[in-house]
Amino acid sequence: MNVVDLRSDTVTRPTPAMREAMARAEVGDDVYREDPTVRRLEERVAELLGQEAALFVPSGTMANQLALRAQTEPGDEILAEAQAHVLLFERGAHAALAGVTVQAIPTAAGVFGPEELARRLHQAPPRIPPDLFPPQRLLCLENTHNSGGGTVWPLETFRAVVGLARESGLRVHLDGARIWNAAVAAGMPERSWTGLCDSVAVCFSKGLGAPVGSAVAGSRAFVERARRFRGMYGGAMRQAGVLAAAALYALEHHRERLAEDHRLARKLARGLAELPALAVEPERVQTNIVYFRTLRMPAEAFAARAQEEGVKVLPVGHDTIRCLTHLEVSESDIDRALAVFAKIANG
Ligand SMILES: *Cc1c(COP(=O)(O)O)cnc(C)c1O
Repeated sequence: MNVVDLRSDTVTRPTPAMREAMARAEVGDDVYREDPTVRRLEERVAELLGQEAALFVPSGTMANQLALRAQTEPGDEILAEAQAHVLLFERGAHAALAGVTVQAIPTAAGVFGPEELARRLHQAPPRIPPDLFPPQRLLCLENTHNSGGGTVWPLETFRAVVGLARESGLRVHLDGARIWNAAVAAGMPERSWTGLCDSVAVCFSKGLGAPVGSAVAGSRAFVERARRFRGMYGGAMRQAGVLAAAALYALEHHRERLAEDHRLARKLARGLAELPALAVEPERVQTNIVYFRTLRMPAEAFAARAQEEGVKVLPVGHDTIRCLTHLEVSESDIDRALAVFAKIANG
């Protein structure tokens, strides 16, 4: 039975054309900066993101964590949305490797305005010495916001928040693992958001379908500092051009098609909304992520039943399931998933 895997957009396998590009890649030792394909990828990414330079790294986690480490000192404070990937899904690296403390900003869908940021800025009452607080150094934003439901940051809100951060002396990092989805959904180039930030992390191994790889971009000085930490963290690679070639191929051929993933995610959400035993908010589906709640059984039981029928979904809470659309999910796969969900929901 052909399995429909909706757990994540990371489950895609490289296509035959992508594998061909990988096989043809010109390579060299990237630690000596002699891999022409890696350099081409880094230049292309910097250009797309409106930044001076970029650095190819093995994972999105490393991209984010290099940005945190390079832009803070141990004991500094970072500000991030409470469900941010950098805080929840990177194995505590912000604490263990960058040594930073956290000011979490709770939101409903991952996006907040300057008022919410303002409330989290340390303002010492007159009799408290202001240097008692950890220095607030870096604001981390996420676009699209994964736990928020694939939410796209409205550009004006983003601009206002970044503006206040800068006025307050903060640097700004963007976790743009799915910035490609945001750009396609909003019909605006990636750099509309990323060009406003000091550093940006992006992934090639999510919706773009590359097997491995992420990048972190920023000023030349930032990237050189990140390069030092990449080495320390064990992320300096040698003939990485075979991987960079997959990322370059993905940037060229798999960005526009993300619109199809978004269309199928909306279709999935509309179909789920018809099922009385499940709760979903289709109007919140902006990109390729759909969260829904199982009202009559635990999410774990629902996922197990679905898997028996050849549909894999991800339980992310006791009654919450996550589904993502991607390169290997077709319209008929969505029809089939909906039929399976209906069968389970109707008991
Ligand atoms: C996937 C993801 C990352 C990075 O994940 P890796 O698995 O380390 O590549 C970072 N941020 C967000 C929002 C993500 O979804």
